[in-house]
Amino acid sequence: MRHHIAAGRSFATFAKPAEGSAISRLLRVVPTGVLLAGCSLLAGCLDGASDDVEVSETAQYATVSSYTSSGCSTAVVIGLSKQIADEISCQSPTLLKRFEPTTRLQITSSAVLPYLHSTAKTDLEAVASTRTVQINSAFRTLPQQYLLYRWYQQGRCGITAAATPGRSNHQSGRAIDVSNYSTLISAMSAKGWAHDVPGDAVHFDHLSSPDIRGKDVLAFQRLWNRNHPADKIAEDGAYGPQTEARLKQAPATGFAIGPTCMTPNMMFAVDVLSVDGPDRAQPQSRAHYRVTLQNNGQADWPGTAVLRVASGTTQLHDPSWISPTEISDLGAPIAAGTMGEIAFDITTPAVTEETPIFEQLELSDGGSTIGTVNIALTVVPGMEEPTSGEADDQYDAQEVAGGCSATGGGSSSTGVVLGLALVALARRRRR
Ligand SMILES: [Zn+2]
Repeated sequence: MRHHIAAGRSFATFAKPAEGSAISRLLRVVPTGVLLAGCSLLAGCLDGASDDVEVSETAQYATVSSYTSSGCSTAVVIGLSKQIADEISCQSPTLLKRFEPTTRLQITSSAVLPYLHSTAKTDLEAVASTRTVQINSAFRTLPQQYLLYRWYQQGRCGITAAATPGRSNHQSGRAIDVSNYSTLISAMSAKGWAHDVPGDAVHFDHLSSPDIRGKDVLAFQRLWNRNHPADKIAEDGAYGPQTEARLKQAPATGFAIGPTCMTPNMMFAVDVLSVDGPDRAQPQSRAHYRVTLQNNGQADWPGTAVLRVASGTTQLHDPSWISPTEISDLGAPIAAGTMGEIAFDITTPAVTEETPIFEQLELSDGGSTIGTVNIALTVVPGMEEPTSGEADDQYDAQEVAGGCSATGGGSSSTGVVLGLALVALARRRRR
């Protein structure tokens, strides 16, 4: 077990379900202090852990350096990376802008950070207005490059070359890797995207956009200092031993206090009270989910806030959704301090083997993320009838324990998708 979870505000999180397991709730909030660091930490999950377990005063979390010798996906630091990207956008909105996936502009994995300089973004969207563009990689931040470089140094993950942290051309904010590049070279070039790195066929640079390398280092330094007033480092945008030492200790899922232009109460105010839906379903079948949320922030959530797929790609798209990755809006506002519900359908993919699916959903209002909700189900070919998730189990920690019996502590990155918002909320409250 290598993941540690910030303690304080209680919540439960489960790793990816083992084959045949039945888990519908990945993220549950229980009323009082249960510290649950993935299922394997406590035998039988919550067995023996009561609601009033005393948690440590010292918040712990998976640090960036805890991933230097395991895994091969930088998705483990996507939480911290998003904060860095958003911190840059906060400082200068044209320097870095988030782009949204569409039917033609496809993002191929949850490790992709969909941010580019505003000009590069416009020219990418222009290409994708008429052609399918599959993005393997876009903006990359310091913690991602740090891990890639360390893995490369150790000969891990099949990485044959990696720039030192801070120096990757993907940290420039004007680089993308396109998996279906071969049919797109001339269309990309017509929009200013140079196919200019010999031996790196998927790579394109938008050379008329400025190179913002160093801004991610500066953004990290600012985030670190905001969260560690007693251990401030120089905000110089230069990656040296001081910055490296802090980067290693930084929480992979993001700091308690996030980017300046997002108010903490907008970002970190969701408690997921329950997720009701099937644990298992047939391939190509439709399933209904009902998620109950508590608004613990000071701001009301507008009815226009949208629940969407955080990674930008999903196997669960249903025709009832707003777009390929936007599921539904709230419909009715949820006032600060109150509870509300969002219900939606998913359609399971056509698979021939039992397939566990984990999906992180994000509730967002305009550019701000309000919080995250995780769902999981196992698609089971030939099963007799769908099992429904246990209903009416809000606030019931035992139900969480029941759903958690299956997993083994998660060597996969999903073990650490913790509901970033709740982790952050927990840590802030302890200060
Ligand atoms: Zn590249």
